[in-house]
Amino acid sequence: MGLLDGKKALIFGVANDHSIAWGIAEQLHAQGATLGFASVESLLERRVRPLAESIGSTFVEACDVSSDDQLRDVMAKWKAAEGTIDILVHAVAYAPREDLEGSFTNTTRAGFAVAMDVSAYSLVAMCREANAAGLLHAGTSVITLSYYGAEKVVANYNVMGVAKAALEACVRYLAADLGPGGVRVNAISAGPVRTLSASGVRDFRKLYGTFAGIAPLRSNISAEDCGKTAVWLASDLSSAVTGETIYVDGGFNVMGVPLIE
Ligand code: NAD
Repeated sequence: MGLLDGKKALIFGVANDHSIAWGIAEQLHAQGATLGFASVESLLERRVRPLAESIGSTFVEACDVSSDDQLRDVMAKWKAAEGTIDILVHAVAYAPREDLEGSFTNTTRAGFAVAMDVSAYSLVAMCREANAAGLLHAGTSVITLSYYGAEKVVANYNVMGVAKAALEACVRYLAADLGPGGVRVNAISAGPVRTLSASGVRDFRKLYGTFAGIAPLRSNISAEDCGKTAVWLASDLSSAVTGETIYVDGGFNVMGVPLIE
């Protein structure tokens, strides 16, 4: 008996087996959920389909989340295949590499716009298209991924911190909007995990390397840790939790002035 037996999950954002989305997929699968995947086209055949097939999943579709048409298309295909969404995972973010280093003041207008569009607005568009397709229902759990840089200044995170702040605000507004229909919307704010996206943040290795010395639990976190919290958010165990940002960071965010040994 799994906690998610009979539930259907659509997951956006698997790039490879290091992706947080994949860590979440593995945990949802382990608890009995049926999974489908939407990722950018260039990753689909070489990376995403083999992973999906390894857990018996055949729904693998291309989707650029900055396109309403592509989001609509994926939702229509999911509707035809599965009829409903019980768990919607948004694990997608992007900002131009040059905007993830140096002076925040020099963030370009174009870089700001694309970071906001892909990393924050896409959650709104995803929920809207899923709702318009009649896929959301009382009990659906929507889960996105955020980071501490939304709240405090993290070196080089720059425009992505602003986009994550917007994303967390979107989570609250979507929770208020969709809550009367029984749909819950929450964010997992993860500690640093070595992924493709993370490698785009300058000096990420340093940030990753000092994390365990500061976090109360004295270790780095994994995509699997995010997956386990996602299981809780996806399941009935979190039935009264919505609009929240849940930290999966070994307690890093509660620290003020640590002594680094
Ligand atoms: P990842 O590179 O494995 O995943 C990011 C995904 O976003 C990729 O699959 C990429 O293809 C997708 N993406 C980018 N632009 C897209 C677009 N226009 N349309 C569709 N998909 C697009 O990296 P990850 O670290 O697993 O990132 C997943 C989420 O977790 C992101 O929101 C990220 O900000 C967040 N997060 C990551 C960390 C970390 O340290 N790795 C920490 C906290 C939060």
